[in-house]
Amino acid sequence: MIPGPVMCNSSVLKEMSKPVMSHGSSEFIEIFGDSLRKLKQVFMIENGEVFVVAGSGTLAMEMALVNVCEPGDEVLILSNGMFGERFKEICLRHRLKVDYQEVKKFGDCISTEVAKNKLEEKEYKAVTVTHVDTSTSVKAPVKEFGRIIKKTNAVFIVDGVCATGGEEERMESWGIDVLLTASQKAISVPPGLALVAFSRKAVEIHQERRNPVDSYFLDIQNWRNVMNSYINRKVFYFATPPINLIYALKTSLTEILKEGLEKRFRRHALIAKAFREAIKAVGLEIVPLKEDYAANTVTAVYYPVEVEDNAFRYGMLKEGVVVAGGLGPLKKKTFRVGHMGNVNSSDIIATISAVERVLFKNGYKVTLGQGLEAAQEVLNKL
Ligand SMILES: *Cc1c(COP(=O)(O)O)cnc(C)c1O
Repeated sequence: MIPGPVMCNSSVLKEMSKPVMSHGSSEFIEIFGDSLRKLKQVFMIENGEVFVVAGSGTLAMEMALVNVCEPGDEVLILSNGMFGERFKEICLRHRLKVDYQEVKKFGDCISTEVAKNKLEEKEYKAVTVTHVDTSTSVKAPVKEFGRIIKKTNAVFIVDGVCATGGEEERMESWGIDVLLTASQKAISVPPGLALVAFSRKAVEIHQERRNPVDSYFLDIQNWRNVMNSYINRKVFYFATPPINLIYALKTSLTEILKEGLEKRFRRHALIAKAFREAIKAVGLEIVPLKEDYAANTVTAVYYPVEVEDNAFRYGMLKEGVVVAGGLGPLKKKTFRVGHMGNVNSSDIIATISAVERVLFKNGYKVTLGQGLEAAQEVLNKL
């Protein structure tokens, strides 16, 4: 129950053990082409271009920035936590000028007013937003940001690593220009794939660059022929694709679309709500200051004074539930439960019951079953 890598379905895992085919075989061409088309559906785009490359979410973040921006460009970063900060570090490494907007208190969320004021003051080349910051479990108002950014020339870059495939997220209709994620979060595939989509506007901005992208591997110019060829059932070589991960991706995307995105968003929302209600019922506090922007894919929870991080997580492990510790300044003060991908109502109930017992064993006064009861009320609507 950690916020990635998540547990994968056995149907997806089986793909990883299949024979490695040639990237030019007709079977692989079919599988890759189909994956790319399905990925567009999951990203909710008809136009624009998708890229699947070997790497992790951090690579996807860098791929988004280096293709859109050139040294000296101004980037506005709207940050709700540690992954917003990572955008800043990548920007600085690539000699971009950064306007870093962060929240004063952990668990708070950068508001649309802040974004609006900033965008009225200055022209930015790009604005980055982390849809769900996995360190604080705060969900940014991406749809509203999209409406504001659409009125400017800025390219809207969204880190969907802890959101895409779990949170409601509509790239095209919300005006997102670059959406990125990785395979091991709500997409429910083992780690190893960076998944990035560029809108028409973002591709145009890339084509109008004054200087070439200062990364050979990440330059979308090198990848466009690859992706376009496979979509049209042809082969094109730039760098060897991670064959078995792409089989796995195809299988998982097929399952995601079979469940249906709207149903999937609703399932995530209800399971997350059940978990939050349970946490409240046992008297603990979540990191997000308001329910409005509490994420549906992960929840960060403050420990009560009685409970120590290592003892709690080891206790949970002995119950068979793996939860994550806190990140950055929230280390030792919080634990995080991922509830994205294939997580169902039984998983969350088992987790809540283990949380109650382990809290109890660690000296925190809780009436066993109180959290479960609150969760049941919510899950009853699933
Ligand atoms: C996990 C995560 C990342 C980093 O992804 P890696 O695959 O670990 O490189 C970036 N952003 C968010 C929001 C994440 O949750």
